[in-house]
Amino acid sequence: MKIDLRSDTVTRPDQGMLDAMMSAKVGDDVFGEDETVKQLEHKLAAMFHMEAGLFCPSGTMTNQIAIKCFTSPMDEVICDQTAHVYRYERGGIAYHSMASVRLLNAERGILTPELIEPEINEENIHYPHSSLVVLENTVNKGGGACYRLAQIEPIHTLCNIKGLKLHLDGARIFNALTATGEQASAYGRYFDGISVCLSKGLGAPVGSVLLGSKETIKKATGIRKAFGGGMRQAGFLAAAGIYALDHNITKLAADHRHARALGDALSGVNYVASVLPVETNIVVFEVAEGVKPAHLVQLFAEKGIACNATGPKTVRMVTHLNISSEMIDRAIENIIHLQVSAHK
Ligand SMILES: *Cc1c(COP(=O)(O)O)cnc(C)c1O
Repeated sequence: MKIDLRSDTVTRPDQGMLDAMMSAKVGDDVFGEDETVKQLEHKLAAMFHMEAGLFCPSGTMTNQIAIKCFTSPMDEVICDQTAHVYRYERGGIAYHSMASVRLLNAERGILTPELIEPEINEENIHYPHSSLVVLENTVNKGGGACYRLAQIEPIHTLCNIKGLKLHLDGARIFNALTATGEQASAYGRYFDGISVCLSKGLGAPVGSVLLGSKETIKKATGIRKAFGGGMRQAGFLAAAGIYALDHNITKLAADHRHARALGDALSGVNYVASVLPVETNIVVFEVAEGVKPAHLVQLFAEKGIACNATGPKTVRMVTHLNISSEMIDRAIENIIHLQVSAHK
């Protein structure tokens, strides 16, 4: 039994999802003729109380399209230094949008108006024009930390007053909603753009949807074409997304329980110095003095547990749809009994 905790992207479609895909009604989506893609876009837009949606191959593409929609060359984007849009999208902000980035250093990547406000440039010919703030929910590098709406609202107010757009990288937004008990429908009013991934915790093989106003999505559709992201009979993939929304959101709570159990086990072993509080499906921990993350990952691999070293001192485990309670029990057995020798 291989227990793959590297990422929630490793899930395989189950039979129900495959059946939904194979029976999808499709057409040429670049011609606007794929009913299933339209259905997915409308469904998600309605869930978040946004006007429209755009189905794209990846969350990197939905984020980068949004940034291009909301900035002009020479503008500046404000985000946390851990942000996926900055760190893990291959420098796409500079490449696609010719914008600079102002990085903040927030606790677990959760931004506040107090952190953002001093970093908004006043109008001055020397300064880049601050035009966009990007939040991430949940924060991947923050160990799956999530925002409450009460934290988002004052950021929205600040952006409104200062004339900045607000984008949400919601790759794991349904994990955040599951953890906080808040409603997707409450999100629409705060954001100009929301990117939702179907291929993470929701278990679809491919796809993300960008949500926004009709005007934003019209502009985004043109940018998607220029990025090479216009797909033809994409309804086969969109059907997996619809299936995921209908069947897999309620399963996220189990992933969170599993992650907490892993976190508790890791808190009690001598080769771990500390575990970030587990709020959702991501467990990030710091290894003890003298322990090398890569070495620890290797030892886990020998026990059939795959995870990732994510920094000079950190290791990450992510739970998902294809991880059962039995697998978690087995992983915990191994975590508790693993012998790790410190070597300098
Ligand atoms: C995975 C992820 C994305 C999108 O990644 P793709 O692999 O391009 O779909 C965006 N933001 C965050 C925080 C992510 O974890």
